Amino acid sequence: MLYRVEGLVIRSTDYGEGNKIITLLTPSYGKQGIVVRGAKKLKSRYGSLAQLFTYGDYSYYKTGSLGSLNSGEIIRSFHELREGLEGPAYASYAAELTDRAINDDEAAAYLYHQLMACQVALAEGKDPQIVLRAYEMKVVQAAGYSPMLDECVSCGRQDGSFRFSSTAGGALCYLCKHRDPSALELEDGVWRLLRVFAALDMRRLGNIAVRESSKRQVQLALKRWMDTHLNLNLKSRHFLEQMDKYSDMLGERTKRPDPETGDGAV
Ligand SMILES: [Zn+2]
Repeated sequence: MLYRVEGLVIRSTDYGEGNKIITLLTPSYGKQGIVVRGAKKLKSRYGSLAQLFTYGDYSYYKTGSLGSLNSGEIIRSFHELREGLEGPAYASYAAELTDRAINDDEAAAYLYHQLMACQVALAEGKDPQIVLRAYEMKVVQAAGYSPMLDECVSCGRQDGSFRFSSTAGGALCYLCKHRDPSALELEDGVWRLLRVFAALDMRRLGNIAVRESSKRQVQLALKRWMDTHLNLNLKSRHFLEQMDKYSDMLGERTKRPDPETGDGAV
């Protein structure tokens, strides 16, 4: 059967002599594995269609589990995401997270649009520490693991200060915090940010100025959440963590603007 779909390349691996297998995220058919023959040959017409992050129109034949590319056209190459060291690292993380969080052939229209918006935001140079955190929230929601953020998961209390517990399912009030001694204490701005991410459609993500300390907390909270509920051991995340360590060693973070007023300015 011949399929024709728009999709985003979220994985691209070498396959045999000069071929590639790509994983395409599509709105209607979810993830589709497609063989792109001759993709690695210099003069291949389809080489660029097989590149990671490419957004295109793909037509392929499929009878078994793998499709075979018939023809295709690039709609947006997202070449910005393949340049430099940091850009590809961030975009690879979003792609790998998506790939691992959803099953084959599972309809994925929502995540498809969210990932597209994530790639656009990264390509436009929006703060990757915000873009990726917002996208992580979209992924955990799509996987069915939304944290409870507005009331205590244990007693339903809506006021007072909360701690963030991955194992308990989100917010724990001061009376229930003993249920998880390892629950995180987060700044108010971080709670606001988590709630904004939960309600947000990535397509409407603006520029949010956030303190470096808040970014760290949001990152830690979502990391713990994902480790508890999705338990994906992502290669791209290890790389990002290494990159963070190096930039800390080089003192880059302190050189970046740190807008005091912007914390949770949404
Ligand atoms: Zn409580």
